[in-house]
Amino acid sequence: MKRFEVITIFPNIIHAYLSEGVLSRALKRGVIEVEVFNLRDYTTDRHRQVDDYPYGGGPGMVMKPEPFFRAMDYLSKDGIKRHVVLLSPSGRLFTQAMARRYAESSTCLTLIAGRYEGVDERVKRLVDEEISIGDYVLTGGELPALVIIDATARLIPGVLGDRASAEDESFSDGLLEYPQYTRPAEYRGLRVPEVLLSGDHEAVKRWRRKEALRKTIKQRPELLREDILSEEDRQILREIKEEENGLYKGG
Ligand code: SAM
Repeated sequence: MKRFEVITIFPNIIHAYLSEGVLSRALKRGVIEVEVFNLRDYTTDRHRQVDDYPYGGGPGMVMKPEPFFRAMDYLSKDGIKRHVVLLSPSGRLFTQAMARRYAESSTCLTLIAGRYEGVDERVKRLVDEEISIGDYVLTGGELPALVIIDATARLIPGVLGDRASAEDESFSDGLLEYPQYTRPAEYRGLRVPEVLLSGDHEAVKRWRRKEALRKTIKQRPELLREDILSEEDRQILREIKEEENGLYKGG
């Protein structure tokens, strides 16, 4: 069973998300485990204060180091192996490949969520890595912690109902996912591509690969690395280029 831990001043945000859907079922079945620690439980003052003014002045408040150190002292008493992550906009960018590595590891993943203007620099002594979920700034690390738990947990065998559903999707093979359709075959004049109705599995497979390549070049060209392309992919890419050229010429 994969264990996740979250240290936060807002445990309810984490509980609320985990109380619905696929992850809630995975928790009930015991495929994953998530324990949330309220940082305020590791303060020693009457007001359970977790923040203070920044040294050197400036706007906002900074999270004090002591509650984090005390929380980690408490957690490390059980002697289990942990990979400790601090959520931070200045961390390394989270990717599907990282989610896969976490999912494959049996080590407990401990996520520290900041608030206010962030955490005292010394808290970084407690962590193995700093991770960002994107180049934007959120009000707290709870959503990033949930993003990481969600992306990781769904790759753990037994979490998704159909194991195959995590295998074919965006980023799994370096490409974005091909377009998906369901019934009806025609809706408001919009038809599902004929090949998908043909029952020809080889043709469907090639069409999907082509559309995945087309979408990736159009939306995320930086993902298309030479080493993920087969000879067949290169042929498909030439076809796409010809088709697009034809389109621009009005063909
Ligand atoms: N002053 C900080 C800075 O400029 O980097 C921003 C602090 S942010 C308002 C408060 C907390 O939200 C951070 O400590 C971090 O835990 C979390 N956070 C905000 N944006 C994030 C992101 N893109 N990725 C991961 N964590 C983020």
